[in-house]
Parts: sequence; structure tokens; C-alpha cells
Amino acid sequence: MLTIGAHMSIAGGLVKAAEDTVRIGANTMQIFSRNPRGSSFKQYTEEEIERFLKVREEHCFGSLLAHAPYTMNLASARPQVYEFACTVIREDVARMDALGIENLVLHPGNHTGIGAEEGIRNIIKGLDQAITGEEKITVLLETMSGKGTEIGSRMEELRDIRNGTQHPERIGICLDTCHMYSAGYDIAENLDEVLEEFDRVLGLKLLRAIHLNDSMMPYASKKDRHAVFGGGEIGMDALMRVVMHPALKDIPFYLETPQDDLGHAEEIRVIRQYIESRE
Ligand code: FE
Ligand code: FE
Ligand code: ZN
Repeated sequence: MLTIGAHMSIAGGLVKAAEDTVRIGANTMQIFSRNPRGSSFKQYTEEEIERFLKVREEHCFGSLLAHAPYTMNLASARPQVYEFACTVIREDVARMDALGIENLVLHPGNHTGIGAEEGIRNIIKGLDQAITGEEKITVLLETMSGKGTEIGSRMEELRDIRNGTQHPERIGICLDTCHMYSAGYDIAENLDEVLEEFDRVLGLKLLRAIHLNDSMMPYASKKDRHAVFGGGEIGMDALMRVVMHPALKDIPFYLETPQDDLGHAEEIRVIRQYIESRE
């Protein structure tokens, strides 16, 4: 069965996000692990957590995904920036694990001039102080578009990060279709080859989540701008080949397209209809 959802707001709380997920016809969701710009987070009450768990169980949600703030930079050489990122990821691994959320995705970081190698060393140290090896949650490194000094636009960088940590068994990958395409992996024209390369470099068993986005920017542009489903450079048919690829049939998909809940509901409806029309 297709597991698909969208990025949901937690402004109204966890229960509301889960109920909205049901409302848009989804069976999973992505939420921010805390305020994505600042550093604040709300302590969830036990009652809210219980109600949230009940909604997810009653509606048979698949694996849930939390997204770490995109303002934190685990690659940074600046002590203040780095310490902040370390604290955020350490707290959020524990907090999201306690909620029973299966995966926590983060952007690896920007090296901002110190070079990818040095940046990767910082990321590894940052992950090691956050992951105890005792948790159930898997920390996912996101495939990035490679804008500026962004680390993680090559599969090899993600592999080096994972292999460098003390608990690689707790680390997986989140593939973002928009980012892959703009990074220069041609998922539109050569999906099988890209997946073969993924399997060779990282291993397909590490793939735990797919961010399902179209790209406003052309192939290999190294620019990160999401387009609505089927309304960008990748296009509907190529994105549907990703959704329907046999090697990806057990992976949950999360829309991060520039849409509100109603727009996401319509995208999910179109995706399900497309699948039905080919069955
Ligand atoms: Fe992301
Ligand atoms: Fe993404
Ligand atoms: Zn993006």
C-alpha cells in the first residue's frame, strides 16, 4: 500500500497535525521537530501525546518523519553556530524518539569555506554527541541540491558521514527528488541508473523516506526551489515513475510542494488516481 503524506504545520499542536493528515487523505506526515527558524519548542503534554498516538494508530499511519530546523549548521567551524546545532540535534533525537516518531531528517550542513572534508568531520562529531545507539529512531541525512557550500549533494558525502559515525546503524537517507534533480542526478530521464548508483554507493536499504517535490530549477542547476507536483522541470510522469518504482514500494513519500493542506490533498488524490489508472 502506498504510504504518502505531506509536511504538516504543528502550529495547532500534534493532534491537530495528525487529524489534518487524515483530512487530506494521507497516511503519514512530516512535521518540524521544533520551530524551524528559532530554537524554541513546545513541551507536549502527556494527554496530547496520548491523543496523537491514538489518531495515528486508528488511521494506520505509516512511518512518521520529523524534520530538524534547517537553520542549524552541524558543519560550521564557528563555535556558537556549532554548539547550537549540536544542542538542537541532541535534544531533538531524544524528543522525537520519545514521541515514537520513526525518522528524523536533517540537512547535513554548509561548510561555509572550510571545505567539505572539514565540514564532514564536524557533522560526524555532532551526530556522535547526539546519537546514543540506544534509541529506536533513525536519523536521516537528506540528499541536497548543492547550493553554495552545502554538503550532501553527492551520495559519497552522505556515505562518508554515515561511515564516520559511531552508530551508523542508526543513520539512514532521505531522498529529495527536487534536490537530486538539481544536484545533477537525472531521476527524470535515468531513474534506474540513479537508483543503481544509490544502491552501489549507499545501499537501497538505507533509504527510509522520499521527499516528493517537483523542481522549479533546471537539471543540475544546484538551486533548491520546490515546484508543485507535476508543475516543474521533473514533471508528472517522471515523478510518478518514482512513486511507482518497484524498488521504492515500501518507502514513505512526503510532499514538500508549495501548497496548503487543500493543495496537498488534491496532489495526493491525483497521485492515487494516476496509480489506479495504470493498474
Ligand atoms: Fe529538508
Ligand atoms: Fe526535502
Ligand atoms: Zn528543498
